[in-house]
Amino acid sequence: MVDVHCHLNFHSFEDDYDEVAKHAFESGVRVIVNTGTSIPSSRRAVELAQKYDSPAGEMYAIVGVHPHHADKADVEFEGELQSNWFDNLKKLAREPKVIGIGEIGLDYHTYKSNGIVDKDMQFGAFKKQIGLSIELGLPLQIHNRQAGEDIIQVLKKYRTQLQDPPGMFHCFAGSKKVLKTALDLGFYIGFDGNITYKGIAPGETVELSELVKLTSADRILVETDSPFLTPIPLRGIRNEPKNVIIVGEYIASLKGVGIHGFQKQIYSNFEAVFKIKI
Ligand SMILES: [Zn+2]
Ligand SMILES: [Zn+2]
Repeated sequence: MVDVHCHLNFHSFEDDYDEVAKHAFESGVRVIVNTGTSIPSSRRAVELAQKYDSPAGEMYAIVGVHPHHADKADVEFEGELQSNWFDNLKKLAREPKVIGIGEIGLDYHTYKSNGIVDKDMQFGAFKKQIGLSIELGLPLQIHNRQAGEDIIQVLKKYRTQLQDPPGMFHCFAGSKKVLKTALDLGFYIGFDGNITYKGIAPGETVELSELVKLTSADRILVETDSPFLTPIPLRGIRNEPKNVIIVGEYIASLKGVGIHGFQKQIYSNFEAVFKIKI
């Protein structure tokens, strides 16, 4: 299986990322992709990716500034005030093993730890990073929380300049209309362990399992967003990339297809988006 979006680059894995990665590889995860949310976490994702290089277990990095960090991207660079986050990101994006720009997008959800970041700043960071993906020929990994319509409007403006396929929405949630438009624009759709949670998530209108059923298998990618979104029956403990297998099995069962065929499909979907042979 492939975990196309997780965060072994985050502090919660500081002490045991290697053990966690090995568990995943031993369990049958062939590729782990760590995604950045800020300049330091993007840099960490690149460092980790460059440590691993084996057909039994590969690691790649996706670099970018999350909409939550759009107003503090400079401040966070190595704990010092800098005014050149974008230049730093550009340098990182050119490093070996970087396969995409993400997680970038818009987020209109109010979290306990983070209010809604000024929307103009979110749009500014999003568009700048789409520009970088076009310049470097890298696919996008989109973060969307309750901002699907606005994200689609932005992506439509760039549609002719994006990669083919343009990339993926990670941890998809939203309306059926946003899903359909994202698919029409050529995007692949990432699902996580929260598809095993019952009911409709706060702020959403459609159950995730419903959206899985509406997405054809040849456009799906699987991910964990570790350390978050641990699937049932493990919910309550820290999530790990090995649990992407649970996510894959759950999707295969929702679709009534065998896990082996589905896994093959996931590999070819990953190869199509990121232009990497598994
Ligand atoms: Zn995200
Ligand atoms: Zn994430």
